Amino acid sequence: MQEIDWKNLSFGYMKTDYNVRVYYRDGKWGEVEVCSEETIPMHMAATCLHYGQEAFEGLKAYRCPDGKVRVFRVDENAARLQSTCHGIMMPEVPTELFIEMVKKVVRLNERFIPPYESGATLYIRPLLIGTSAQVGVHPSKEYLFLIFVTPVGPYFKGGFSTNPYVIVREYDRSAPLGTGIYKVGGNYAASLKANDIAHQKGYACEFYLDAKEKKYMDECGAANFFGIKDNTYVTPKSTSILPSITNKSLMQLAEDYGMKVERRQIPEDELETFEEAGACGTAAVISPISYIDDLDTGKRYTFSKDGQPGPMSTKLYNHLRNIQYGIEEDKHGWTTVVIE
Ligand SMILES: *Cc1c(COP(=O)(O)O)cnc(C)c1O
Repeated sequence: MQEIDWKNLSFGYMKTDYNVRVYYRDGKWGEVEVCSEETIPMHMAATCLHYGQEAFEGLKAYRCPDGKVRVFRVDENAARLQSTCHGIMMPEVPTELFIEMVKKVVRLNERFIPPYESGATLYIRPLLIGTSAQVGVHPSKEYLFLIFVTPVGPYFKGGFSTNPYVIVREYDRSAPLGTGIYKVGGNYAASLKANDIAHQKGYACEFYLDAKEKKYMDECGAANFFGIKDNTYVTPKSTSILPSITNKSLMQLAEDYGMKVERRQIPEDELETFEEAGACGTAAVISPISYIDDLDTGKRYTFSKDGQPGPMSTKLYNHLRNIQYGIEEDKHGWTTVVIE
C-alpha cells in the first residue's frame, strides 16, 4: 500500500478505495451499493449530459485531536440537496439515506482520512445525476446518486491569510430568478470565464454584483461574502446566491457573541465602511479579503492595511474550526461523530 504524503496534498482528486451508489428507478430509491469503480457507465443521451440535470454537495470529514472522525452539519447538506432537487425537478434524496451514505463512504475509506496534524481533511462529494436516455427536454425518469471521497490539503498552506478580489461586471454566474440558489454544475460553468479573467489580472477570485441592477454585492466566486463593522456581521440577501452552510454557522456564532447580524442588500459603496470582509465556504471556512478592486470605477476598497486578517474574522475562523475538530464545545449540535 502506497504511503500518502499528507503534508503536500492539494485540492485535487486522489483515487480512494470505495464510493457508494444508489439508483432511482420506477419512482423509488434502491439499495445502497458499494463500488470500487471510478467510472460511471452511462447512456450518451442521459439528461445530465445534455440538459444539466446534475446537482452536487460538498462537505468534509475531520480527523480530530481526540481521535474521532467528525462531519459538520451533514443534515444541512441533505436539506440543501433536497432544495436543489426541487429546483431542477429531480427526486429528493431522503435525509436518512444521505447521512447513511456519508457515514458509509467515510468509514469504508478510513485509511484516506488525513491525520489531524497535517491540516488536511477528507473531502466528501455527493453527486446526483439524471441518467435516462432522452432527447426531449424533460426531467429524467431514472437517477444515480453517488458519493465519493478524496483527501484534500489545507486551504491555507502558509497560514490564515488575506487575498485580493476583483469585481467583474461582464459576466453573471446566475440570474435573480435563476439557479444561483441551487448547487448545480451549470452555475460553475457560467463562472469559469470570469474566474479566468480575475486570475489573469492577478486576483485570487472574481466578485459578482447582483445581475439585475449591478449595484449590490452578490457572491465572490463560489463563496458567500460577509463584512464586519460596528460589531455587526453583514451578509448579502439575494435570490441568486447559494445558501452557504458555513455562512449560516458564522452568523450563528456572531449572534452568540452578542453581535448584530444583518442579512440584507449591500450596495457596493457600503464596502468603504467595512472594517473587515471575507469569503466563506467549506473549503476555507473564511478566506479574508485584503481588498476588492472595481476596475470600471478605479475604486479600491481595503479591509486590511497590513495584509493580516482582522480580529473578528480570526476569532470566527478559529472558533468554527475548533468546533469542527471537536476542540471547542459544540453547543448547537453541529457535528456528527462518524468514527469513534
Ligand atoms: C458550495 C457553495 C458555497 C459554500 O457553501 P458551504 O455550504 O459553506 O460550503 C458558496 N457559494 C457557492 C456558489 C457554492 O456552490
